[in-house]
Amino acid sequence: MKYLDADRNPRAAWAFLQQTVRAATRPWALLEACGGRAQNLARFEAEDALPAGLKLIHGPGCPVCAAPPETFDRASALAGRPGVILCAPSDLMRVPGRRDSLMAARSRGGDVREVYTPLDALALARQNPGREVVVLAVGYETTAPAAAAAVREADRLGLDNFALMGAFRRQATAVEAALDSAGGRAQGVLVAGPVCAVTGFRAYEPIAAKFRVPVVITGPEPADLLDAIARAVRQLEAGTHEVENQYARAVRPEGNPHAGTAIAAVFETADADWPGLGQLTDSALVLREPFRRFDAADRYGPWPPVRPTVAGQECRDGEVFAGRIAPASCPAFGISCTTGHPLGTGMASPEGACQASYRYRRQSGPAAPLPVALISGPSQALPTSSR
Ligand code: SF4
Repeated sequence: MKYLDADRNPRAAWAFLQQTVRAATRPWALLEACGGRAQNLARFEAEDALPAGLKLIHGPGCPVCAAPPETFDRASALAGRPGVILCAPSDLMRVPGRRDSLMAARSRGGDVREVYTPLDALALARQNPGREVVVLAVGYETTAPAAAAAVREADRLGLDNFALMGAFRRQATAVEAALDSAGGRAQGVLVAGPVCAVTGFRAYEPIAAKFRVPVVITGPEPADLLDAIARAVRQLEAGTHEVENQYARAVRPEGNPHAGTAIAAVFETADADWPGLGQLTDSALVLREPFRRFDAADRYGPWPPVRPTVAGQECRDGEVFAGRIAPASCPAFGISCTTGHPLGTGMASPEGACQASYRYRRQSGPAAPLPVALISGPSQALPTSSR
């Protein structure tokens, strides 16, 4: 607890950040790929109060936004098939895809059930041998080990009524593509520590060298983020471009070997399409042989093309995800697209940049020198994501 409390006390980190940025010789922009951690910045008003001359560009942090929107349309279509039980975590229920959502499929009579992990869906498959159980699972490498465990167990049990509809993505490939797409607008990168707790951070070393940018692996607390920003600025001022591990209490350079082994046993890499970033080589994790028979794409595909609705066409969350535009630059932001009526993943997902900007946007007034929410400090429990 001693260390946890220290990490939740942002006073020192805030003072350090102010000091660091005051000494900066020029404005800097950092690409933030931290998902729920960016929500914390917005929630505690820290983003509005960042020192002048320091800009955060929201990039590929949200793990749900990394999945192509068509994934959710296809899951919704599967949910309408007779005999199918479609399982998904609760945060995927309202994601609208390009024309449909699981919530809408359920309201039409589809058997859609909320599960915490793919292992819960596996239990349902065992309890319902006459039904087909499909589990939707999306995210970065953090989500893949639980899916790998479920598939291996289904294989061991010889279950043939269980399938995985997975959209697992490798975050480092997206960060590299977003830096390319930003065309030099971002001079440093903040990366989500929980993903690196699984993968390690070796994959970021060639990226830091290629773009000559500092990459800071960042913990989930507001103090972690402020500390990480200060570290990136210090590197920029010093002209260095190293991978720096701010979240050393959880992240090892090589990651978690058990999780890595579990992933490698069941998945292999493949090229995949990304919202706003196009097709990226070896950027996805897909089931390998002999587990491919559990792949919903093999069992139920090929999928018919998805024609977006007008709302789907209006959504620019791919550009937000790639860091090319800020959420508020989308014409639909806060008008036709709100948290109550999301048009895209960025607004529907609790880790989406659009939702963070919409829920916690500053109503009025100048930036405070120290956010009031941060002053109340250490006792506040903060939401973090396991994805
Ligand atoms: S504000 Fe809504 S419509 Fe615009 S990019 Fe974000 S999710 Fe899409």
